[in-house]
Amino acid sequence: MPQPVLKPKKKFGRRDGCVRCGRKRGLIRRYGLRLCRQCFREVAAELGFKKYS
Ligand SMILES: [Zn+2]
Repeated sequence: MPQPVLKPKKKFGRRDGCVRCGRKRGLIRRYGLRLCRQCFREVAAELGFKKYS
């Protein structure tokens, strides 16, 4: 049997997507967050961000 070659697979590679719902549209990477716009609005309120306008 041939020895299996260990290929480093990046499990945590570029998984750009909302960490909450996995959506990739309208991603906001501000403040170190990776949330889509929808989740950002919800999480922002929980995190203490105030809605400006
Ligand atoms: Zn989301």
